[in-house]
Amino acid sequence: MKKVLCGVDIGGTKLSTALVDHDGNIIDKLIIYDHVDKPEDLFVEQVSLNIKTLFRKNQLEEEDVLGIGMGCAGHLRFRDGVMITTSNLKGFKNYPLRDAIQSNFKIPVILDNDANAQAFGEFNFGAGKGYNSMIFLTISTGIGAGIIINHKLYRGITGTAGEFGHTIVNPYKDLLCTCGNKGCLMSCACGMALPHLFKQKIEEGKETRMDITEDFDYSAVDGKFIKEGFDLGDPISKEIILDSGFYLGLGLYNIFQVFNPPLIVLGGGLLSWGDIYLEKIKKTFYEYARDMIFDPLDIVVSKIGTDAGVIGAASLPLE
Ligand SMILES: [Zn+2]
Repeated sequence: MKKVLCGVDIGGTKLSTALVDHDGNIIDKLIIYDHVDKPEDLFVEQVSLNIKTLFRKNQLEEEDVLGIGMGCAGHLRFRDGVMITTSNLKGFKNYPLRDAIQSNFKIPVILDNDANAQAFGEFNFGAGKGYNSMIFLTISTGIGAGIIINHKLYRGITGTAGEFGHTIVNPYKDLLCTCGNKGCLMSCACGMALPHLFKQKIEEGKETRMDITEDFDYSAVDGKFIKEGFDLGDPISKEIILDSGFYLGLGLYNIFQVFNPPLIVLGGGLLSWGDIYLEKIKKTFYEYARDMIFDPLDIVVSKIGTDAGVIGAASLPLE
């Protein structure tokens, strides 16, 4: 019998732990919500306890499990498993998270960026099945990517490869990205930019069907707000979806020129914007790529749903 996979997804609101089979199905799952403010040692204790609880509940010994994969947003150094910075765990800086968890287990523990984890899950269990290489993009509050070349994740020297959200697509944009630069793809086309983009269009005097009062709190503008606006026929919401799709399309074109991949998979919350968004991304991509595509390039939406983070983390030991 194949050994079970174990994944831990360290999110900004929830900490998910799951046992996963070799087809990417969740066997059992445990979620807690109070992990963000925990000091380092208590966090490590909690993660280890969650894993051991799932093992016990499912009558698994450690040797029945292939390994423990953990995914977390932020910058981490893959080779020594050090969390450099992350906004998902307050106060964590240069913390050897992988080894701290490893000290409680005999089976291997792997810590990677959440986009890499999701990419590898998609590669093994989702839209990437049957391919040898692919690029995965996750588009939600931020934009991240995972690069898979010949069945392996490409991580770069530090482990930060695939920070695709910080590639610059328009240096003349006025919104500052979280990295301190202007014109990053992230500051033109994802969740974190939406309040700014919406406010800007209101200030330009564009018409809206949304209820925007004098004291409207623009931080409430998120992907869901824009989707609701679009469904109501709000012209600003539609414009933002199309603008975002344009910048994403440019991004895909840049990926195509650098990697010439057979497959690009798009995941993340903003894909719920639907066909108009996806079509604008593809249309822009093909307008730029014109006659430079000589082999098929598939651009598809992620096949792993809401549990992509923890399923992806669980896939890491397969590498
Ligand atoms: Zn940036």
